[in-house]
Amino acid sequence: MAKQKPKTLGELKRKSARLPDVREEMRSNLIKKLEKKGPLFPGLIGYDETVKPGLVNAILCGHNIILLGERGQGKSRIIRSMVDFLDEDIPAVAGCPINDDPFRPICVDCKQKLSELGDELPLTYIPKNRRLVEKLATSDVSTADLIGEVDPIKIARGRTLDDESAIHFGLVPRANRGIFAVNELPDLAEKIQVAFFNIMEENDFQIKGFPVRLPLDILIVATANPEDYTSRGRIITPLKDRFDVQLRTHYPLEKKHEIDIMEQEVRRPVVDGLETHVPQFIKEILAEMTFQARSSPDVNQHSGVSCRVSIRSYEAIMGSALRRSLDYGEKRAVPRITDIESTYPAILGKLELEYEAADRNDGEVVENLAKRAIKVVFDAYFKVDNLSSIVDSFQNGAAAEVSQFLPSEEYMDGYDVIPGLRNAVQTLVDPDSPDEASSAMEFILEGLHLSNKLNRQVKDKKIVYK
Ligand SMILES: [Zn+2]
Repeated sequence: MAKQKPKTLGELKRKSARLPDVREEMRSNLIKKLEKKGPLFPGLIGYDETVKPGLVNAILCGHNIILLGERGQGKSRIIRSMVDFLDEDIPAVAGCPINDDPFRPICVDCKQKLSELGDELPLTYIPKNRRLVEKLATSDVSTADLIGEVDPIKIARGRTLDDESAIHFGLVPRANRGIFAVNELPDLAEKIQVAFFNIMEENDFQIKGFPVRLPLDILIVATANPEDYTSRGRIITPLKDRFDVQLRTHYPLEKKHEIDIMEQEVRRPVVDGLETHVPQFIKEILAEMTFQARSSPDVNQHSGVSCRVSIRSYEAIMGSALRRSLDYGEKRAVPRITDIESTYPAILGKLELEYEAADRNDGEVVENLAKRAIKVVFDAYFKVDNLSSIVDSFQNGAAAEVSQFLPSEEYMDGYDVIPGLRNAVQTLVDPDSPDEASSAMEFILEGLHLSNKLNRQVKDKKIVYK
């Protein structure tokens, strides 16, 4: 049976003489996790040797953290995973808007309650998920939002303006004894940055000219795009100094990690009675497209190319295969090369094209990314010389028609007219499964075309290789 939690300060005192501050609490939970050798930051992929060690150090040292990185590098996930290092719940003074520590309350109301009630001071429990306060910095965030404002209702009830208890606390004080996370820090107006700095450094701030002193206990985690953060004037120097550690996030360095993130984050389109199967080479092509975009001169690299590009295109290509399966009553949806086109709308909204590229047809930019990706993955699986029997049969007059609108079964007679095709398909998938085989055939034919071995024509939504 679970032990009764103390309901008053007096009962709590029988268990402990004081409560840890947030840094002590996170450090001791981190040490417990390290001793158990359990996974730290589960779900944070590709950061084992780069970002995670820095995070562990920062928690050990109780450092305020600034995460620098382009969009879609898991910064929000990092912030949310900081909650794992908090206790399940902590006792606080009941009714306190800033989660006061019952042993040493800092707000006027709780100090007064403590002196009146002593050990009878009633407690409440704050679960860990309520101890992370997150705010997206935008230019219209006000001091009232962040720090607080005078509460007109309290004034109406007879509180005077210079009475601290007339204050309605903002987000930062409400994060007391927890974590305050501010996303895109450089987007805060300078005036707000000053107020934010004061509350962090001096523990004091002013509301409507009235000075308030609150020694808050908060771990701060902020995020910023590296260029915004380092560019002059975007962030006030004293605030920058207040961040003890700066960690650089990054996109996956390996395609394998990009694929792991796709698998972790995908929202699979589900159709009753239909199974979706995505061959490995298709996943690799989608991940490679994102990699290509991250090094493309046509794409604005300052804003970055989020992992969400891979994730959403993964979903879109499954959708395309599902649509075909529904049309033909096939039991399994397997995406093909001709389905890649259906990922373009998902990708385009997430890329910022460079001025010159945007002038061109943006579909063409994405199509080029797809072509390069298919070629890279094809070269990793095949040597063109080993596919000479396929190439020969086309030179001797064979032709093949493919389309995202053709049922899989129609591909199977390809084995009869193109010697060597079956062997090549077999290196990728089960050659007797029409849905998988049609996907693999398209990959091989397109790869040969991109290797300048086959001609390709588009005719009535169909692609003809000759
Ligand atoms: Zn209080």
